[in-house]
Amino acid sequence: MSAVGPKPRGECPVCGLDYQLTKDDVLGRHNGMTAAGFSTGERCLGVGEPPFVPEGA
Ligand SMILES: [Zn+2]
Repeated sequence: MSAVGPKPRGECPVCGLDYQLTKDDVLGRHNGMTAAGFSTGERCLGVGEPPFVPEGA
């Protein structure tokens, strides 16, 4: 294991933004985003899912 930052982050496969990961390496709680970039005010469907990993990573 290489050194990691204080808080691992990952890209949400649903809204495409970076959020902190939980200790289980899944996306932490965040609100979803509409296509226009506004918060939906509801939990994103990506919460609790593994982060998106770019090809070649
Ligand atoms: Zn999301």
